[in-house]
Amino acid sequence: MTIAASAALDVTDLHKSFGPLEVLKGVSATAKRGDVISLIGSSGSGKSTFLRCINLLETPDQGRIIVGGEELRLRPSNKGGLEAADRKQLERLRTGLGMVFQSFNLWAHRTVLENVIEAPVHVLKVPRREAIEKAEGLLAKVGLYDKRDAYPAFLSGGQQQRAAIARALCVDPAVMLFDEPTSALDPELVGEVLKVIRDLAEEGRTMLLVTHEMAFARDVSTHVMFLDRGRVEEEGPPERVFGDPTSARCRDFTRSLS
Ligand code: ADP
Ligand code: MG
Repeated sequence: MTIAASAALDVTDLHKSFGPLEVLKGVSATAKRGDVISLIGSSGSGKSTFLRCINLLETPDQGRIIVGGEELRLRPSNKGGLEAADRKQLERLRTGLGMVFQSFNLWAHRTVLENVIEAPVHVLKVPRREAIEKAEGLLAKVGLYDKRDAYPAFLSGGQQQRAAIARALCVDPAVMLFDEPTSALDPELVGEVLKVIRDLAEEGRTMLLVTHEMAFARDVSTHVMFLDRGRVEEEGPPERVFGDPTSARCRDFTRSLS
């Protein structure tokens, strides 16, 4: 298989328990380049754990993870579960996964611009001038060019989240992972962040998005996965998952939120 034909992200049969609690019972997801996969499901169904296992913020117990055609090498850890067999490879593959969390996670003591150039300059060793040029372009794209020298505390939640998206984009990730990027925002700020995510989808960015914004998921996704108690209970094109689900649990869930 050529690199061009391979999936941007391919996760197979991921399992994860916290002690006796089995949170992921074999979850798989494949995103081709340009796919936008929305992951929906009740609180506690394992959505965040799934995203966190993909970049090894949590150690999976079992499973395969392939990013941009390259398999993450895993080995049994003496603490249980699997760990990266090669730290350098993990760091490299992680920079291919742009993660945006619910709680913006910007460095408080750095300006917006410094936040955005941090990973390119320090991890990827991109020359500072080049990184700044790129960062300014991305800040313009998310509507924050004029805030580039501001500190995060002086930004609204929506502006902070847009800065976090620019930061994730600045390393040219193969896949963007969003974990409820609008859940911590005041309602009037949700729209500006969804607009940025929609623009990225329209540009053909590959994304895996955990969200409770059902109308948005229906609109932007190429594929929707409904996670229930650690299993994919229903998945398919948005029109089908939202319009004509086979699972009663999926139907109840999507109806309760729309
Ligand atoms: P979701 O994002 O779908 O709301 P999570 O993946 O955050 O669900 O959590 C799934 C389950 O795993 C929940 O019952 C949660 O309490 C539990 N869980 C998540 N992280 C941990 C952890 N670090 N230690 C123990 N239990 C955890
Ligand atoms: Mg979560």
